[in-house]
Amino acid sequence: MTETTATSVPSNRPHPRRVSRRIGNITESATLAVDAKAKALKAQGRPVIGFGAGEPDFPTPDYIVEAARAATTDPKNHRYTPAGGLPELKAAIVAKTQRDSGYAVQPDQVLVTNGGKQAVYNTFAALLDPGDEVLLPTPYWTTYPESIKLAGGTPVDVFAGEEQNYRVTVEQLEAARTDQTKVLLFNSPSNPTGAVYPRAEVEAIGRWAVEHGIWVVTDEIYEHLTYDGAEAPSMPVLVPELAEHCVVLNGVAKTYAMTGWRVGWMIGPRDVVKAATNLQSHATSNVANVSQRAAIAALNGSLEAVEEMKVAFDRRRRTIVEMLSAIDGVECPTPQGAFYVYPSVKGLLGRTIRGRTPRTSVELSELILEEVEVAVVPGEAFGPSGYLRLSYALGDNDLEEGVGRIQKLLAEAR
Ligand code: PLP
Repeated sequence: MTETTATSVPSNRPHPRRVSRRIGNITESATLAVDAKAKALKAQGRPVIGFGAGEPDFPTPDYIVEAARAATTDPKNHRYTPAGGLPELKAAIVAKTQRDSGYAVQPDQVLVTNGGKQAVYNTFAALLDPGDEVLLPTPYWTTYPESIKLAGGTPVDVFAGEEQNYRVTVEQLEAARTDQTKVLLFNSPSNPTGAVYPRAEVEAIGRWAVEHGIWVVTDEIYEHLTYDGAEAPSMPVLVPELAEHCVVLNGVAKTYAMTGWRVGWMIGPRDVVKAATNLQSHATSNVANVSQRAAIAALNGSLEAVEEMKVAFDRRRRTIVEMLSAIDGVECPTPQGAFYVYPSVKGLLGRTIRGRTPRTSVELSELILEEVEVAVVPGEAFGPSGYLRLSYALGDNDLEEGVGRIQKLLAEAR
């Protein structure tokens, strides 16, 4: 006799899939995985230095924390509020968007989300039908392809390597365009490469999108983190005809050191924003009110804190590029934005280091973690093998110590 428990499946019934195909196909966020591995080793007392995290190492500015503290004692914030966001926050987002990028929008074009990540998810869910293709400049932020696939779309990688400073051209986009192309994902400054598209290139890409009726989803979350005088203009401002088929993504995480507060937003045409708001009303309802109140204080305040962070990031950027470039086999273009460097390590693959011969950047990053206890993210998380991503949003001493360890290890390559 077969015994059946609450967890076992009777053998005479067909076994249903335990996890759906759609969700089973999603891979773990590689960047969060590296960060978790480094933190776990640290918790065991290992002197691990982590270059994995995509977050500023500064605390959230006091005036923002203070606004949140005050919000906790107001019973209004203890209740459900509109799913699409507090009206005061939408007003602050409208004003900030006009102030920072010159893009004029109305509150009903804004949806407040649980971080920029949910804005990415909501946007693709609202725009894509099965079979729709999304052109994805590669290397890409690791969340985009998963979010596109989850919405039934097909990501189409358009690769731009270090020799073109990781910026795709209109010619490359045109070569990848098909009758199924619905959306172009655009992210400048870029995670993972730190690339910033100059004004003329942003405009040319926007005009190409208008000409072919392609939607642009433009992720501006690193807009304030640019160096060497680079600017990151907003595509629908340079190409106003694009506004009817453009979604702008943004959030407070990177500009105000607020990764843990989980506030982002999407801005787009009313029908798309309404559809995304309906989705969110069933998925998560409103973003935590205390976080929304903190975001209002952030956006209505000055940009002084980000200017201060930028000074530190800029200094670390120069140090890390110089130290990585000194390694034989590493090519490290100087990034102009965000807080990442994206060196090519193709010159090291196939060489032997301490008796091991890494053939991929995953293997190289494992070797680096195991031999010198430094965590970096392999290029495979963002596209092809042959690259590493290092975040330089960590303290100066740790940065120098960590890259110093990598230098010493890789100098042993034979
Ligand atoms: N967009 C890009 C390019 C990012 O790198 C990130 C975070 O790493 C986000 C959006 C989302 O940030 P959050 O969900 O923390 O607001």
